[in-house]
Order: sequence, then C-alpha cells, then structure tokens
Amino acid sequence: MPRTLDPELRRALAARIRYYNEMGIYDFYRRAPVEHAEEVAAAMAVDEAGTTVLEHTLDPGEEMSPRKAAAVARPVPVEENIFEAIALKPEHGVSDPVKALKIIREDLGDCTRCVLHKQGRKQIVFGVGNPKADLMFVGEGPGADEDAQGEPFVGRAGQLLNNMIKAMGITREQVYIANIVKCRPPGNRTPEREECETCSPFLMRQIAVVKPKVVVALGAVAAKTLLAMSASMMQLRGRFYEFRPTGVRSNDPNWDGCKLAVTYHPAFLLRDPRQKGEAWKDLQMVMKELGMKAPAKTLSSDH
Ligand code: SF4
Repeated sequence: MPRTLDPELRRALAARIRYYNEMGIYDFYRRAPVEHAEEVAAAMAVDEAGTTVLEHTLDPGEEMSPRKAAAVARPVPVEENIFEAIALKPEHGVSDPVKALKIIREDLGDCTRCVLHKQGRKQIVFGVGNPKADLMFVGEGPGADEDAQGEPFVGRAGQLLNNMIKAMGITREQVYIANIVKCRPPGNRTPEREECETCSPFLMRQIAVVKPKVVVALGAVAAKTLLAMSASMMQLRGRFYEFRPTGVRSNDPNWDGCKLAVTYHPAFLLRDPRQKGEAWKDLQMVMKELGMKAPAKTLSSDH
C-alpha cells in the first residue's frame, strides 16, 4: 500500500539534502528501496564519487530476511518522489525571474557559510541586471568599490566591463552580472577554492533562473569554477562550452541550454591592455552566437 514519509523524517531529510546542495551536491539516486522510513535516514550516505546515495546495506554476517529480500526485489510504492520533492529549490516553480531571484537572495540571507563573512565584508554583493538577460557575465568576486556599493563591477574594472558591453552594441542594463563569490576577499586576494565551492551554488541558481543563452566567464577563477576544470586561460578561451548549472537536470523542460565562453577579467586587461584585442575576439564570438551585429567600433586601448 502506498505510504508517505513521517513529517519529522521528511524535514530531517530535507535539511540534509539542502546541506548537500549547499556543498554543490545535487544528484541523488536511490540504489535500492528500503522497508522502513527510519532506514531511509540511516541509509543516507555519500559515496566516493561525492554523489549522495540512498542504499540499504546489510551488516556483515546479517542474512537478508525474506521480507527484506522482497523489498529489494520490488520497488516500494511511495506516494511522492521524496528526492524530487525535497531537493527542489525554494524558487522552483516561480515563473517570474524577479521573484525567483528575490527568493534566492532571501535564502542566502546574512550568509556565514564561508570564512569570507568574517573577513571584513561590508555587504553581500548578489548580482545585478536584466533578470531575463540573454547574456550573463560572471566575475571572480567583489572588490572595494563593489563591497561599498553592493553591486558587482562598479570600480575601474567595472568601467572597462561597461565599455566592453557598449562595444558589443548593448547596455549594462541588458545583461546580468554576478560573481563566483559574493563577499569581498580581504586585500582583493583570489578567493580560495573552498570559498568558491561554497558560494557558487547560489550563482548556479541565479543562472538557472535568468536562463541566459550565453555566459561569459571573466577570468580563470570564474571559468574554472563554472566549468569545474583546471586549465590555463590560453586553453580555456576561444571556444564555447555547453553549460548547465549544477542542480539543473539534463531533462529539465525549463532549461533551453546555454553556452559558456571564457575571456580575460577586465582587471587583468587594465594591467595588460595589449590583451584587449584578444578579449574583443572572444566577445565577437559571443556576439555571433547571439546573432548580434558587430558594430564597427572595437574594444580599443582608450577604453
Ligand atoms: S562568499 Fe558566499 S558563501 Fe561566503 S559568506 Fe559570502 S555569500 Fe556566504
């Protein structure tokens, strides 16, 4: 007979799954059905590959009773798909991206999930721009100006990013801009891998809501975190990657696909303006993908 999970157990499982989500683990599968709800909690585990599995294992020497064997042999009818139900993000099903982004921001709260919360941040820098943008830029983390104003890319590097966007024939308001980490690393140091991994699930959720056609990763930290791969900028640039934010299922009917391109971080271009020509080539590739007409103007060195 179909059954539902005990509400208390359901809450405990939901909390556990949210905990895994915040660590960037989203894919759950049930290896074998179990008999009792209590066993579900006991059987939650993370396997070596970092995937959460729900499995029933026998203690050494424990024989499988005919009842347990029967339970393993046939699926247990459960009235609801507990994993789909409780792994859903709070913004799931919210069609208005403005509201959905607000829900993600509320979920982030006065975040203390990584050490950056106690290293001098003035405020969390969430993201800004068109919540339905076709194009999204993702940088590394807020600097002093961003920390003071609560908006990404508002300092000198932000001015250059604005010029890059303008050179593409569009405005800053038409795109969405965010960072891998939402709190300023002290002394503008590069965010640690652990900080990126702790914070980026929220960015993934922002991307899943905005549904851009193209994401441009600005710099190596953004590229490596989004693509979960380690390579030099030279190896990463010059091509598109099929991108699906962590947490979005491959068969999600609401996800239309997205391409990711990598280019230099504007702060790097300020230090080495000779690379602006290369960055412009990356942006031209993006414009072509988006069907945008390239204006005559290029990203010249006076920007
Ligand atoms: S960087 Fe991200 S995870 Fe770390 S405290 Fe700030 S908002 Fe939270």
